[in-house]
Amino acid sequence: MASALTEKLTRLVKEMRGQARITEANVQDMLREVRMALLEADVALPVVRDFVARVKDKALGQEVMGSLKPGQTLVGIVNKELAATMGEGVADINLAAQPPAVILMAGLQGAGKTTTTAKLAKHLIEKRKKKVLTVSGDVYRPAAIEQLKTVTKQAGAEWFPSTPDQKPRDIALAALDHARRHYFDVLLVDTAGRLAVDEVLMQEIRDLHAAIKPVETLFVVDAMQGQDAVNTARAFKEALPLTGIVLTKLDGDSRGGAALSVRQITGAPIKFAGVSEKIDGLEVFDAERHAGRILG
Ligand code: GDP
Repeated sequence: MASALTEKLTRLVKEMRGQARITEANVQDMLREVRMALLEADVALPVVRDFVARVKDKALGQEVMGSLKPGQTLVGIVNKELAATMGEGVADINLAAQPPAVILMAGLQGAGKTTTTAKLAKHLIEKRKKKVLTVSGDVYRPAAIEQLKTVTKQAGAEWFPSTPDQKPRDIALAALDHARRHYFDVLLVDTAGRLAVDEVLMQEIRDLHAAIKPVETLFVVDAMQGQDAVNTARAFKEALPLTGIVLTKLDGDSRGGAALSVRQITGAPIKFAGVSEKIDGLEVFDAERHAGRILG
């Protein structure tokens, strides 16, 4: 991985020739560069601190093997730790449930839940050959229900109607019943957005989760959220057993540090990345490629 950070670290290596062991003194400069790169990528501060501490622990006192210089070892440790934190390989949607497999979409308002619901419907139709139904539990914003209807149509999936006078739980259960009786493979449940973490709405989504028992509970988070992503992620993780993350708006100019923050706080794999406003703007998340982007 030839990132700008790797180049900076390699430059620092040249200043510490001939040392057989990484010491606290020569590792400090390098850790500073690692810290700067992560902060520039908008990784949340507590996550940066943890990460740098883990790299330092692993680096200190480590023997330098063969011709490897201390700094080169550190580059390796950073890359390995980043890959380990971000999760390796590709994590696709889990549909291993008695059909219909229910997928619950959670996240703040504006994160991209509705858009992602439709993108995911299209992905499951085209890549997994599934029959997909969507439903909106956003009883607070009638426009959100209409928006889901529109984008569901674009995705080539079916939409189950709901109205603001219903309870989200009842809507979801009715949709589930409909999906069962009409042999849908997947039911995607979009939920009410929260502008900020709100206890009433958190309880509502917990109840919804208990009622429909989704096989996937996806936390949709805006990559541009940067530092705030940590608090949001922590609140959703405490409320729900998250099974995956969708990182949206990666087409923006952020370096995507939110990925590292959210991944570390929730422990859930990042499954997809949103890369445009369009219905086909969803990619399976590639952790290794993204690690390179964070390092800049
Ligand atoms: P919700 O409130 O969480 O349901 O969010 P929406 O799905 O309504 O999305 C909010 C805004 O973000 C809309 O204008 C979307 O078009 C936009 N959006 C969602 N995902 C992406 C993405 O991956 N890239 C870009 N550029 N825009 C996105």
